[in-house]
Order: sequence, then C-alpha cells, then structure tokens
Amino acid sequence: MIQQFDLKKEYAILEDEIQNELKKVFSKTNFIGGENVVSIENNIAKYIGTKYAISCNSGTDALHFSLKSLDIGKGDEVITTPFTFISTIEAIMYLGAKPVFADIELGSYNIDKNEILKKINKKTKAIIPVHLFGNPFDVKNLIKDINDSSIKIIEDCAQSFGSGIYCQRVGSIGDTGCFSFYPTKNLGCYGDGGMITTNSEEAYNVIRKLKNHGSSKRYHHDTIGYNSRLDEIQAAILNVKLKYIDQYNMMRVKIANIYNDNLSDIENIFTPKKTDYRHHVYHQYTISSNIRDKIMKKLEKNSIGSAIYYPVSLEKQKAFKEVYNDKTIYKNSNYLSSSCLSLPMYPHLPEDEVHKICEVIKNIK
Ligand SMILES: *Cc1c(COP(=O)(O)O)cnc(C)c1O
Repeated sequence: MIQQFDLKKEYAILEDEIQNELKKVFSKTNFIGGENVVSIENNIAKYIGTKYAISCNSGTDALHFSLKSLDIGKGDEVITTPFTFISTIEAIMYLGAKPVFADIELGSYNIDKNEILKKINKKTKAIIPVHLFGNPFDVKNLIKDINDSSIKIIEDCAQSFGSGIYCQRVGSIGDTGCFSFYPTKNLGCYGDGGMITTNSEEAYNVIRKLKNHGSSKRYHHDTIGYNSRLDEIQAAILNVKLKYIDQYNMMRVKIANIYNDNLSDIENIFTPKKTDYRHHVYHQYTISSNIRDKIMKKLEKNSIGSAIYYPVSLEKQKAFKEVYNDKTIYKNSNYLSSSCLSLPMYPHLPEDEVHKICEVIKNIK
C-alpha cells in the first residue's frame, strides 16, 4: 500500500535525535514555557525573517489571534478564498466579522488578486490569502495594488512552511503570518501547535497576552484571553525537525518534478503550474481532471492512496450558509472541488513508488 501521507519513515530516521531531546524535557519536567518554547520562537523568527514569532496551540488560534490583534471585529469584512480549510473562515467568524469570498485562479489554486480587488469596499478591514498546497501567493504585489495600509494582510501559511517568493519567505510579507504544526503539515509536530510571525511590536504585545489568559505578569490579567500554548514536548520535536525543513521541502520538490515530467502531457489531466520566482514546497501535489473519480478508483485498486482537498467550496458549507446566504457562484472553486485530486506526497516517499503511481495514471483509458 502506498499511502497518501506517511510519517513512519521520517520518524525512523529522526527517532534517536527526537528521543534524546524528549528525555531531556522529561527529566527537567518543565512542560509549559520551557527553554524549547523560547528557542523555537527565536529559531522560527530568524528562519522566516520577522522580528517576532509567538507560539500558540494551533494554526486556527494563530489566525484568530492575528485578526483580533489587528482589531478586526463585528461588522468588518475580511476577504479570503472559498477553496481552503474551514479554519480560515472560522477565525473570521469567531470575531463576528464577515468572510467575503474572492474566487481562485485555476492555474495556482490560490485566491485571484483581481477578484480580491473587485470585492474591496469601505467595510473591508483585512484579507487572508492562503498559500495553498505550499504554493506562495504574491502578497507583495497585492499590497502594492491595494495601496491602502489600513487594510491588513494576514498570511495563512499553514501549508507552506519554508516556501517563498522572490527570495522572501511567506509569513514575513503581510502584517502577520500564521502557521500550523499539525502532524501532516510540512513542518509538523506530534500533536497540535501553531505560530504567528510578525514585525509589528503592537501585534506581538497583544498576541502574547491573548494566548496566555490576557496576562503578561502572572496572576495579573489585563483582558480576557485564552489558554493557547505550545507545550515543551512539541517545541522540542519542532526544534529537531526545523533543522531538516529545507532538505525535506526539496525532497517534496523532487517528487513533484517526477509527477510533472510524467503527467503534464496527459490529456484530461491538469498538473500544478510552476513559475520561476516562486518556491513551491508541495504540501500537496494536486492535479485536476474531469475524470477525477475514475483516477481515484484506479489508484485505489492498485493500493495507492489519494485525497480530495477540498470536496466542498466553503460558501456551500452548512456552517457558513446558516449565517450568510451567499448566492454568488465561485466558478473556479466549485470546478476544482469536483475535479481536484491530491496524489501521495511526503518527503520520504520512494521515487520508484512515484514512478509506479505515474504508470497507473498513464494507463487509464
Ligand atoms: C491546517 C490548516 C489550518 C489550521 O491549522 P490547525 O493547526 O489544524 O488549527 C488553517 N488553514 C489552513 C489552510 C490549513 O491547512
């Protein structure tokens, strides 16, 4: 069986190093707010290229706290993509703000800048572009075209740790960058975890308090906050895995290149579009095809896993529809939800297995 995602090979390689770090954590018994939490924040700020990085419990909290720190609230509109994981709009809706969708581009699967520009009005307070499947959206170009610094940009980097554009890392371009360390993400821990990166001292100060019960001094609470901490065990694992992230992302790129070489000429199959100045880190390798279901079944018959990210465009989700009745048709988002298929992708997927997957797909009549 070739799984769509598998961590076992990676763990076997990192086992000694990780167990060694965990032993130290267990003997120190400093499980919350220990030295690994401090160092992973410093290491990630340095890696991404921001002044600050603040750890928290999940990517969802990272988005929620970012919006709150930028003063987004009731009645405000936040523009985002309908082709993403639900968290992106959950964070907006927690605050009573309204998610406003802008359709995606078929080539990159990312939100379409021109569609964003059409949706901007006086109520627009923020935009959340998602660097979907590891492919960086050009945030800088968007900021230039909006030309209004009162509209805040929150980058959803949950699927794109280490990716970049024009040599600038995602998470360092907008007002904040939001990362998830859910185990399947490019940089994943062994539980839940998240991080916010920013250059804004103000956002940093607000988020620091929010994630820790509204407090900066023990038992003195300035606001009602949350319990959203990254624990020492997860931070220790992340410190080990961060050392390998560039290598592992390059292994993903190598696999994607094999897929591209073998699949891009097949009629009926659309492979992800590459552009030179973007460093795509292939959180997913996602094709689209009008015979998607047939391909999926054929792979399954050959014991090859695949997955549909995402089967439902967000404006059609019950949780959204019950609050907002958005009748707009997001043509590209809906087209992709009925035609997309994510093939097996993880750094240690053996190359001969990638070739085998390509052969199975090539032979579909
Ligand atoms: C995973 C993911 C999130 C949420 O991260 P969690 O850590 O699971 O809360 C947010 N946005 C996108 C695009 C994601 O893929």
